Amino acid sequence: MTLLLSADETGIARAAALLLAGELVAFGTETVYGLGADATNERAVASIFAAKGRPHFNPLICHYPNAAAAFRHVDANEHARHLAAAFWPGALTMVLPRHIACPVSLLAGAGLETLAVRVPANATAQALLRAVGRPVAAPSANRSGQVSPSTAEHVMEELGGRIAAIVDSGPCPIGVESTVLDLTSPHPVLLRPGGVTAEAIEALVGPIGRPIPHAVAEAARGLRSPGLLVSHYAPNLPVRLDAREVELNEALLAFGQPLPGAGCVFNLSESRDLTEAAARLFAGLRWLDREAQNLGLRDIAAMPVPDTGLGLAINDRLQRAAAPRSS
Ligand code: AMP
Ligand code: MG
Repeated sequence: MTLLLSADETGIARAAALLLAGELVAFGTETVYGLGADATNERAVASIFAAKGRPHFNPLICHYPNAAAAFRHVDANEHARHLAAAFWPGALTMVLPRHIACPVSLLAGAGLETLAVRVPANATAQALLRAVGRPVAAPSANRSGQVSPSTAEHVMEELGGRIAAIVDSGPCPIGVESTVLDLTSPHPVLLRPGGVTAEAIEALVGPIGRPIPHAVAEAARGLRSPGLLVSHYAPNLPVRLDAREVELNEALLAFGQPLPGAGCVFNLSESRDLTEAAARLFAGLRWLDREAQNLGLRDIAAMPVPDTGLGLAINDRLQRAAAPRSS
């Protein structure tokens, strides 16, 4: 059962309590409805991907009530501060380096060293973020492959029964997603056009880079997934997929009962729970990569994970990690 909460004090307090308990709550922003989870809770973040039926782990935007809160979790540069002063709260998302002590779930950032942060303007979103007191990770509140919802009814049609609650703050005034700007290099790059125009950004920081032409061409053909524009985290050690046995000079990424004989082991989920496995995936790859290199092991052998539910996204990520590298 999905609760439909009104955007008043009682509804917001209820929504905040659910988020802090690790539940999923959709809420309106000025752009589209977001599907929110406590961004510091790996398991809650994993359940976002399960509810959306996403076949891969795109990094998610983390929402904050103000720039000061956002800039405690990422390293803001001069461009970022200027843009925040001009466009926050508003429909601009900035990709910045994660702070060393950033408590946001690795899965929310898809294992990257960067994090996408935004301060929404919508009064309900603001009240909710202040009540939660933690960053809220939120992709658009639609099933994977469907259009982004701009009313609570749309969210209910798509996700009713799969999430704890929806805070109904009426239709979203902008109705298109936020602009995503990569500020991790001295020359900002537009990753996704959206509610704040490129011209308005350029008036402040000078010329910005546009997405690479082949991605644009693919987008025009409808083939592009937003996640493909992002370079993904991969461990340094080679990954061997579909391991049925393992050797002493290999590290093991286990799922269920671990294969015997590995040099070191990280178990994604002893009980073969795919949500738990998703929540532990990036932390597990990082830990194994570090330990295995310290121990002088050859590679990471990954046990098979079923290709159902979140297993699809886990396998997509493992296949990327195992793909041949150019460098
Ligand atoms: P959605 O989940 O529908 O709100 O879309 C979020 C957008 O932000 C996607 O296009 C992501 O690829 C992009 N994004 C989020 N985090 C990052 C990041 N760390 N680096 C680059 N792009 C990001
Ligand atoms: Mg989306």
